[in-house]
Amino acid sequence: MLRYELSHWEWESFFSHLDVVVVGSGIVGLSAAIHLKEQAPTLSILVLDRGPLPIGASTRNAGFACFGSLSELLDDARHSSREDILALVALRYQGLQRLRQRYGDQALGYEALGGYEVFRTSEAATYQACRAAMDQWNADLQELTQLQPTAGPHGLKYGTATFVAADERIPQTGMQGVAHLLLNRAEGQLHTGKLMHTLLARAQALGIRCLGGITIKNMQENGAQVVLETAAGWEFAAARVLVTTNGFAPHLLPTLPVQPARNQVLITTPLPGLTLRGCFHYDKGYVYFRNVGDRVLIGGARNLDLAGETTDELVSHPAIRKHLEHLLRTVVLPNQDVTIERAWSGIMGVGKHKKPIIETVGQRTVAAVRLGGMGVAIGTQVGEQAAELVLQL
Ligand SMILES: Cc1cc2nc3c(=O)[nH]c(=O)nc-3n(C[C@H](O)[C@H](O)[C@H](O)COP(=O)(O)OP(=O)(O)OC[C@H]3O[C@@H](n4cnc5c(N)ncnc54)[C@H](O)[C@@H]3O)c2cc1C
Repeated sequence: MLRYELSHWEWESFFSHLDVVVVGSGIVGLSAAIHLKEQAPTLSILVLDRGPLPIGASTRNAGFACFGSLSELLDDARHSSREDILALVALRYQGLQRLRQRYGDQALGYEALGGYEVFRTSEAATYQACRAAMDQWNADLQELTQLQPTAGPHGLKYGTATFVAADERIPQTGMQGVAHLLLNRAEGQLHTGKLMHTLLARAQALGIRCLGGITIKNMQENGAQVVLETAAGWEFAAARVLVTTNGFAPHLLPTLPVQPARNQVLITTPLPGLTLRGCFHYDKGYVYFRNVGDRVLIGGARNLDLAGETTDELVSHPAIRKHLEHLLRTVVLPNQDVTIERAWSGIMGVGKHKKPIIETVGQRTVAAVRLGGMGVAIGTQVGEQAAELVLQL
């Protein structure tokens, strides 16, 4: 780690008289800073990140604008009340709507291509359970999603249902070894980079200072301020601090129940004539794939080595990448000449509970972490709620 001292000019121009420091410039950190500045324009706000870009989850995810597959809802129903599940689904769905309304579909690269749950022959029992429960969930979700009747392929009419059986689409996707598809008509996908670019541009336009390459090693509340110690060896202070480090939270706030969960991701080169469109949840959601224009992105499979992927090191897991590549070649794009153009990993923050942690963790410190796999949907609202807590300190 580079160590250096701060010059007088650097300190005076960039690190003095700070009202709020946000640690972590992912979706949550930037959304929180934007909300703070909109509510209190005179605040001097610094958002910082250890990476030149936010190198955690927000610039490395799959861009699913999703809010829950049917089998996930059924699984949740085993240990949560229907009321609680519907509240969580509403939070995610409304979060997505709010994000779209705030920034516009074009800026986010949003496309309403639907989200599919894929069932293999071996998953017949789960599929049947989903089909049996589908009508009731559709009735419960109608008021939320307010879908209008539309025509599906082959002259099918979809009514107002959120979840519909979509087996007739299997041939069109080109997938192999798939027994059934359930479509969530209200899901979509976006361009992760465009979303983050938009948030960053909005923050900077509001006069929020955003700096990369600063790792906070330690924080200490000291009377009227919080002293932040950087890994480079110098310190600075702010009146209030918001920690939005998600899967990295244990480093600064070890008592919070958050664990890192690494995910591997691959993307192909463009595939002319690709017919696969939409977001797909496979193997109980552990594997996900989608089209990105004419490319296919595939990721996940951390269930192959849950212990090994419980880490915040942004490196490759060769066996998992091999498995993802195998699925790509045999299930998603069988019999096609596929070239992987790029591979990377990202870090989620997870825990026993699916709800994010948004709480005050000191007299002058708030934390908003543990976004799980739904940060695209809930990140903006989580940031805004955390900002409201900061304003109350
Ligand atoms: C591979 C992958 C695929 C995903 N796919 C989807 C998806 O399709 N749809 C969806 O809704 N969600 C998805 N998610 C989850 C979603 O990306 C996250 O929930 C969301 O981005 C979390 O945002 P955040 O701001 O809380 O955290 P992050 O984006 O992780 O931001 C935390 C930031 O804190 C910084 N940081 C950490 N420690 C320090 C420190 N000590 N000092 C300074 N900075 C620090 C990190 O560099 C990082 O940039 C995926 C996640 C991954 C990893």
